[in-house]
Amino acid sequence: MTGGYEAVRARGVAAFVHETGRDTYWRALAEQRASYVGPDGLARSELLEVVTCAACSSGDARAAFRKDGFSYVRCFGCGSIYISPQLRDEQLDAYWADSPVAALWLDVLVAPAQLEFDRAKYHDALERLERRRGGPGSLLDVGCSLGVFLDVARARGWEVAGVEPGATARARAEAKFGLSVHADLREVGERRFDVVTFWEVVEHVKRPVELLEAARAVLASGGVVLTLVGGNVHSLANRVMRAASAAFDFSRLWYFSPSSYATLLGRAGLAQVDFSSVLAEIDTTVNFLRYDDPYDPVFSEPVLPPDLLSLLERTVLEGDLGYKFLSVARDAEGPKP
Ligand SMILES: [Zn+2]
Repeated sequence: MTGGYEAVRARGVAAFVHETGRDTYWRALAEQRASYVGPDGLARSELLEVVTCAACSSGDARAAFRKDGFSYVRCFGCGSIYISPQLRDEQLDAYWADSPVAALWLDVLVAPAQLEFDRAKYHDALERLERRRGGPGSLLDVGCSLGVFLDVARARGWEVAGVEPGATARARAEAKFGLSVHADLREVGERRFDVVTFWEVVEHVKRPVELLEAARAVLASGGVVLTLVGGNVHSLANRVMRAASAAFDFSRLWYFSPSSYATLLGRAGLAQVDFSSVLAEIDTTVNFLRYDDPYDPVFSEPVLPPDLLSLLERTVLEGDLGYKFLSVARDAEGPKP
């Protein structure tokens, strides 16, 4: 993922936020968030339900911090952070399917700066997969949105299929990339895939174990599940910035650590075979350390010497302290890929 990320850093965080339309998207997102909050500043109880940890199923947790009216708690069982109480299914379904802000996100995804960033990220991941299996194969992307990843994979020789519940995104995937995308994983039928991918999907769904079990069920013999998970709870940036990190938001329900994600995979019958954390996210962290807006900084005085920043960046990436992580897992009972 380095290529795209370095290009973003060279332009600066604020420029990337503006060029991709994230600023417009974030303003709409703030309105959406406010619609869940009552006059007391808390998310309205009738929209919410108390949940237990998706990774380890423990209900034993303590308050970590509050953001935008929602409570983030830390699990005593596995160290994950999650929102509880969190929005109910009806609220989340409506948000993903019908909200103007979800449609705005699709515009972000096709902004040239975003496409450049994402394509570099996808090429890196596909290269890894191709090295692992000795070339392209069949691939199913679940939560494929507009289909940018499928388009990249197809061009590299993969036989691709996608699942996307959002009707607008499906229509745009067809119009922009000529992709025919399923609305539901069950529509895949008897087809089996060498690779099933989730790009920042698992941590947004109510029942991640069920979703990963469904992915396992459509794996071909020796197949793997690749997930990019946002909101690494061990991330240095998230640990420092906590509520000020954009990672924490109402629609990302679960914040796994490298080890709690392995626990989650295990409960779905999957065993992790490869793991790496990505995006050091040092620049936003340093902005925060200047008492500045991490994503729209106005101050620029040095906070730490450059050699210490480079060391920090290396330590973060080598120590699984990156902002997100990429995991590859196989069927725990199947043959080793
Ligand atoms: Zn847990």
